[in-house]
Amino acid sequence: MEKHFETEAIRSQLNRTEFLEHSVPLYLTSSFVFEDAEDMRASFTEEKERNIYSRFTNPNTTEFVEKMCKLEGAESGYAFATGMAAVFSTFAALLESGDHIVSCRSVFGSTHSMFTKFLPKWNITTSYFKADEVDIVESLIKPETKILYLESPTNPAVDVLDLELMGKIAKKHNLIFIVDNCFATPYLQQPIKFGADIVIHSATKMIDGQGRVLGGVAVGPSDLIREIYLFARNTGPALSPFNAWVLSKSLETLPVRAEKHCENAIKVAEFLEAHDKVNFVKHPFLKSHPQYEVAKKQMKLGGNIVAFEIKGGVEAGRKFLDAIKMCSLSANLGDTRTIVTHPASTTHSKLSEEDRLEVGISDGLVRCSVGLEHVDDIIADLDQALNA
Ligand SMILES: *Cc1c(COP(=O)(O)O)cnc(C)c1O
Repeated sequence: MEKHFETEAIRSQLNRTEFLEHSVPLYLTSSFVFEDAEDMRASFTEEKERNIYSRFTNPNTTEFVEKMCKLEGAESGYAFATGMAAVFSTFAALLESGDHIVSCRSVFGSTHSMFTKFLPKWNITTSYFKADEVDIVESLIKPETKILYLESPTNPAVDVLDLELMGKIAKKHNLIFIVDNCFATPYLQQPIKFGADIVIHSATKMIDGQGRVLGGVAVGPSDLIREIYLFARNTGPALSPFNAWVLSKSLETLPVRAEKHCENAIKVAEFLEAHDKVNFVKHPFLKSHPQYEVAKKQMKLGGNIVAFEIKGGVEAGRKFLDAIKMCSLSANLGDTRTIVTHPASTTHSKLSEEDRLEVGISDGLVRCSVGLEHVDDIIADLDQALNA
């Protein structure tokens, strides 16, 4: 990064057109024209770097990707229609039949389904370690292992994994180390600094930050991103120019939003920790978090997700949601609006109790994505719902 994070997030933009617009225009065009036969030939053989067709590249997606690369400290990237398109395309591009993945057990639900239901169709298997079992990671690595994958903080249990330690293990065993950095955003944590090769985001969450569009991105070294690009260019999970334009604008305010989200979240976490209807609270920057020291080492702030366990199990969790007045009951996160979910009775209700506990979802666990409303109003709503 040449300038500070905040400045790059605002000032990295496409060259202005002849109209000298201040803010970047939206390039709603499916394709681009060629000057003549020679121009077309040279473009298709990639002797010339230029836009051909918006499934490959488009000025708006290029701007978004280049900004993400600067903010994550990566060489190259590609933008996808959703976070899951980024996750799937990365695996599909980099793995062969027979390859093996070592992953943290606590991963996003659809990523778990990909590991257990879909990748096995192509004879790609996954071994899991739990967030508190980092000492077994090396024992899971086989000759066929190609990728070490994790999220930190994890969704929804808000566990933190030591990126530096994982980076060292990946390097020692010559694995591609991939981090889903969705919960932290590059403002709070830059995994490449700790040895990650590829960083993936669901831009749908904190990067958009206003619950409007879906998007995803993968950034990393040029050779690996080239493989991912070629896969995506031919299979079609590209981000739309409109969504890219929205997301690039969103990045301009990411630092101020993230600061305020985190300030509100730690206040909510401290309030909940002192509440007599709450068994425990998990937020990376609470001293009681099991990986507090690791979080302090690798994160600038603790993030906006607070997980807490209500006394009284599933019933108490459902009652709590019913008593919420202001906050939203929604499956999204990282929005300006505070969102509460009760995984045991909703997103993870199909799992057995044993499987739920394995990912840290106890019956009374609530996940709160703390928004940008006045923190006193957020706390008042949670308090009245806990006491209801
Ligand atoms: C939401 C999410 C995804 C998937 O992103 P979509 O944009 O919904 O496809 C992946 N990883 C994490 C950690 C997420 O929270």
